[in-house]
Amino acid sequence: MNNIAYLSLGSNLGDRLDYLKSAIQALDSHPDIKVASTSSVYETDPVGYTDQGKFLNLAVKIETSLGAEALLDTCLNIEKSLGRVREIKWGPRTIDLDILLYNNENIETDRLVIPHPRMHERLFVLIPILEIDPFLKIPTNDKPLIDLIEQIPNKKGVRLWKQTSGEDAYAHFGS
Ligand code: ADP
Ligand code: MG
Repeated sequence: MNNIAYLSLGSNLGDRLDYLKSAIQALDSHPDIKVASTSSVYETDPVGYTDQGKFLNLAVKIETSLGAEALLDTCLNIEKSLGRVREIKWGPRTIDLDILLYNNENIETDRLVIPHPRMHERLFVLIPILEIDPFLKIPTNDKPLIDLIEQIPNKKGVRLWKQTSGEDAYAHFGS
């Protein structure tokens, strides 16, 4: 498990918390993935396509022996297994798993861009990921991520929904 990756998880359909829990469980039960920490859960207003319900978002830090492409396949498989159907771009979804960072790598293929190209402008990504690691930097920018928050004009729309202490991946969900 010699690679570190940060993922962003989001849900705005059905039992949102349960979808997040199931996705974390699916990640952690994968033989090549260990969930190292999870952020609190945030409720966030939709961006892009705004005529849809509010999201629950969180971030996770994982250790993995999978390469980035194989990790993407795993994320897409988990989305599929949790009933995600793609209809509207940026539209409602039971679960979305995005890879934000993979080690310190820059990756650009037809199906995978890392760092995730919109992560630095999305408060619903930055706030959870910085809760896990407040000093995080991305390879494409010298500035620490936390400085980018200052440049986001509208800081509304991301509210703490369920707090966690960080290390326990299932802290939100009871036993
Ligand atoms: P979005 O997350 O922007 O709403 P989707 O979840 O529908 O979009 O993903 C569409 C495609 O984005 C995926 O099939 C995947 O190939 C591609 N993609 C590119 N970079 C990434 C990344 N860093 N993490 C996850 N998917 C990515
Ligand atoms: Mg996605």
